[in-house]
Amino acid sequence: MSAVEILCSECGAEAFLNREPVYEGFTKTGERLSCSACGFVFASEEAVPFKEAAAAPQIFTEADRSKKVRVFDEGEQLMFCRYCASYVVNPFMQFCSHHKKEVQATDSCSDFRPSDPEESLKKPVF
Ligand SMILES: [Zn+2]
Repeated sequence: MSAVEILCSECGAEAFLNREPVYEGFTKTGERLSCSACGFVFASEEAVPFKEAAAAPQIFTEADRSKKVRVFDEGEQLMFCRYCASYVVNPFMQFCSHHKKEVQATDSCSDFRPSDPEESLKKPVF
């Protein structure tokens, strides 16, 4: 079985979903779903913060997909720190010059300021 990636709602780490069968006597009664990074146990399948929940390609038709790409271009994803003018990257860390703290390329915040598109193209893609 392939590993399922999650973005843990508890520790915030990109981790894997641990799936362990739960037995009552010798009868399998369910599964225990937990975070491989912090061990947090999710209440149910619905509570698991699957990393690619919105991007399962097989459930979208070709038409849906091109629509998705347009939305991507127009906004949402462009709020990521990676596209922000305050985003500074060096070999050791990604840094927000506005909040003076370490950030991830995929973080977003309300102080987002779009960077020069030419500039953002020079930034490495993670
Ligand atoms: Zn976790």
